Amino acid sequence: MANENTGRLLIISGPSGCGKNTVYDALALRDKEIGQTVSATTRKPRDGERDGVDYYFITEEDFLNKINNNEFVEHVHYATNYYGTLRSEIDRVLKLYKKVAMVIEVNGALNIKKMYPEAVSVFLMPPSKEVLVERINCRGTMDADELARRMKTAEEEMQKSCEYDYVVVNDVLENAVEEIYNILNL
Ligand code: 5GP
Repeated sequence: MANENTGRLLIISGPSGCGKNTVYDALALRDKEIGQTVSATTRKPRDGERDGVDYYFITEEDFLNKINNNEFVEHVHYATNYYGTLRSEIDRVLKLYKKVAMVIEVNGALNIKKMYPEAVSVFLMPPSKEVLVERINCRGTMDADELARRMKTAEEEMQKSCEYDYVVVNDVLENAVEEIYNILNL
């Protein structure tokens, strides 16, 4: 398990639509010492998503068994699905990289931070409410109710940003990446 001797844990989270996956991908290109855990989820794959790469797509029964077997370091029920970080994933990534990144939602992030206070937690903040609306509704297909529901969740998530070690505004991608890179390589 990660500690100061075996590696460094980075938690990146933020509201859905803040661009956390894009930021992580750019960070991984900048910092070759960093690898990402692949989460398990009961959500169905979206077009182009691959099992074992984007997520481990598993059934609810499987997920609940893994909870019972204490295989998750954290897990949440988010929207209508389960998501969780497997202990085995942290070990797998630590064998390959010096730094382990988890790109996860707010409640899981704060749970991890409680268990591993030495982990570095970064909250990615969208530059404005208008940009957040645009990003959440990027496919342009969302109805008004769904958009309102997602905005409410995003606002609740943003209220928890003060519990993170760092808040980074994701306005210009390169700047956000540089900021996180510098935080990790202080
Ligand atoms: P999506 O369904 O859009 O891929 O993910 C929904 C949310 O779940 C995102 O905020 C994503 O970062 C988060 N998420 C993905 N994997 C995990 C995980 O293992 N644990 C937690 N707590 N959240 C996760």
